[in-house]
Amino acid sequence: MGSVSLKNVSKSFGSVKVIHDVSLEIDEGEFCVLIGPSGSGKSTLLRIIAGLEDVSSGNISIGKRHVTDLPPKQRDIAMVFQTYALYPQMTVRENMGFALKLAGLPKAQINTKVTEVARMLELDQLLERLPKELSGGQRQRVSMGRAIVRNPSVFLFDEPLSNLDAKLRVQVRGEIADLHRRLQTTSVYVTHDQVEAMTLGQKIVVLKDGRVEQVGKPLELYDDPVNTFVASFLGTPT
Ligand code: ADP
Ligand code: MG
Repeated sequence: MGSVSLKNVSKSFGSVKVIHDVSLEIDEGEFCVLIGPSGSGKSTLLRIIAGLEDVSSGNISIGKRHVTDLPPKQRDIAMVFQTYALYPQMTVRENMGFALKLAGLPKAQINTKVTEVARMLELDQLLERLPKELSGGQRQRVSMGRAIVRNPSVFLFDEPLSNLDAKLRVQVRGEIADLHRRLQTTSVYVTHDQVEAMTLGQKIVVLKDGRVEQVGKPLELYDDPVNTFVASFLGTPT
């Protein structure tokens, strides 16, 4: 079960409050986009869901489990970062299988799973390469593959396309959409790009200064923005 629920989540760094009383329901299987300008708290919110930051107050559930006090490993999530975060000395195969190896899975099982996911992402010809021998788009696919092999209940993406050039961005964006159609894994996807939000999001959450400005389906936000901030941010004429 991969629904995600945030109840009255706030977060301060020292005396500075950066997330203000955010409540949010993301349904099982839904692709939810968090969008907002730089510094609006998108990454912090994602890291809170991942367990990489603790909350100052509030509660988080994933499926039926209260995870607020659980470490990242016990949250059944996998995260894809903008910087890929691949291990440079490991091959694609080793990078993709590493989490399963840490989890103590037998080698044969790891190989089967990695091969299956590599085929899905068209990485099967590249399994023995090192990250430095791959293009940016291929690296990002490996980083997605590494998340997929773990079969998590929730995928968390933090601006996964921002290090790619314009053409690759469109391509990998399409691959992420295909992947979601195929796996239907609950996804929370952070971006500051309206086109990404509109094309990928089933639900869009607009953040400003650590607060939720509006939540809705892409067309609802586009047709009926609650204020000029949402309108201008999503490119609607006001
Ligand atoms: P976004 O991802 O939307 O650009 P962030 O979540 O990274 O925004 O940051 C939100 C706010 O929290 C910013 O003002 C940022 O400076 C602050 N912030 C983020 N992480 C830390 C940290 N570890 N220590 C102090 N302030 C932080
Ligand atoms: Mg960020």
